[in-house]
Amino acid sequence: RRRIFSGVKPSGHLTLGNYLGAVRRWAQEDQHRADALFCVVDLHALTVEHDPARVRRLTRQAATLLLASGLDPEHCTLFVQSHVDEHARLSYLMECTATDGEMRRMIQYKEKAAREQARGRSVRLSLLTYPALMAADILVYGTHEVPVGEDQTQHVELARDLAQRFNQRYGPVFTVPRATNPRVSARVMDLQDPTSKMGKSHAETAGIVYLLDEPDVVRKKIMRAVTDSGTEVRYDRTGQPGVANLLDVLASCTDGKPEVLAGEFSSYGELKRATAEAVLELLRPLQARHAELCADPPYVDGVLRAGAERARDLARPRVNEAYAAVGLLPPA
Ligand code: ATP
Ligand code: MG
Repeated sequence: RRRIFSGVKPSGHLTLGNYLGAVRRWAQEDQHRADALFCVVDLHALTVEHDPARVRRLTRQAATLLLASGLDPEHCTLFVQSHVDEHARLSYLMECTATDGEMRRMIQYKEKAAREQARGRSVRLSLLTYPALMAADILVYGTHEVPVGEDQTQHVELARDLAQRFNQRYGPVFTVPRATNPRVSARVMDLQDPTSKMGKSHAETAGIVYLLDEPDVVRKKIMRAVTDSGTEVRYDRTGQPGVANLLDVLASCTDGKPEVLAGEFSSYGELKRATAEAVLELLRPLQARHAELCADPPYVDGVLRAGAERARDLARPRVNEAYAAVGLLPPA
C-alpha cells in the first residue's frame, strides 16, 4: 500500500493557506487512498525564537484543528513529532548525507534567516539544518508521496536527493519520495502583500486568514485585501496578483476554475464579497467541530498517544537498518 506523510508546524495559528494548500487534501483524499501519516512537527517550531508555553499550546491546537478538518484516526495516523524519537535519530544521519552548500541554497532558509535578522534576532543553527530533519520525517516511514503546498516542494526534492544518495552509498534503505501539490491554491498569497505567501508565523496579521478567526474578522480581512489598480476582474497572476489570489481562493473553496470565475464578476467588491462568503462557509463546520473537540481533551490525547505508538513501530526498524548500514555497531 502506498504511504503518505505530511506535517504542519506549530509556529502559529493555522491559516487558510495551510488548509487549502495541504490539510484539506489530507482529509478529503489522502487518508482514504493510502496509508497516511500526519504529524504536528513541533521540533521544527524551535528553529526560530519561540515561547515554550505557546508552542505547547499551538501543538495541541494544531492537532485539534487537523481532527476538526476531518482527519479520522480510523483512516490515518496522527501524532506529534517529538513523541517519536526516531525522527531526531534519523535526522543526524541526514545531516551526514547532506552538504552545507545544499542546505544554504534552500529558499526558506534564506527568507527565514533574513526575517530573524531583521527582527534583531540571531539565526539558530537548526534553521539551516531544518531540511535534514524534514527529510528524516519523510524517509523514516518509507514514504512515497508528500502532499504539500508549493513552498515545501524544494525541501521534498532535497529529501529525494538524500534518499538516493544514501541508497547509493550504503544500500537500498529508503523509498524515494515525491511531492504532490493541489491543483489550485498550492500557494495562497498574503491578502495585504499578494507577492508573498500567506504564512502562519508572519508578524503582520492583517493579510492572513486564520482558521479560527471570527466571521467578522474574516470578512474584514478579505474586504480589505489589496487589489490591483484597474477595475476589470481578470485572472493574471503576474499582472494582477491580488485579484488572482482572491480568484484562486474562491475557486479552491467552490471547486471551480479561477479563469472561469473571473468572468462572473464586474467589480472587485463583488469578487471580495463572494470570496468572503465562500471562505466562511468552508470555516463554519470546521470551527464548530473544533469547539466540540476542545471540550474533550482526553479524546485528542488518546488519538495522539495511539498515533505515536503506531508511528514508532513503523519507524524503528528502518532507523535501525540505516544505522547499521552506515557502519554504526548495533547494540549487543
Ligand atoms: P511558517 O510561516 O511557520 O512556515 P506556514 O504557514 O508556512 O508556517 P508550515 O507549517 O510551514 O506553515 O506548512 C504546513 C503546510 O502548509 C505545508 O504543506 C505548506 O506547503 C502548506 N502551506 C503553508 N503556507 C501555504 C500557503 N500560503 N499556500 C498553500 N500552502 C501553504
Ligand atoms: Mg512554512
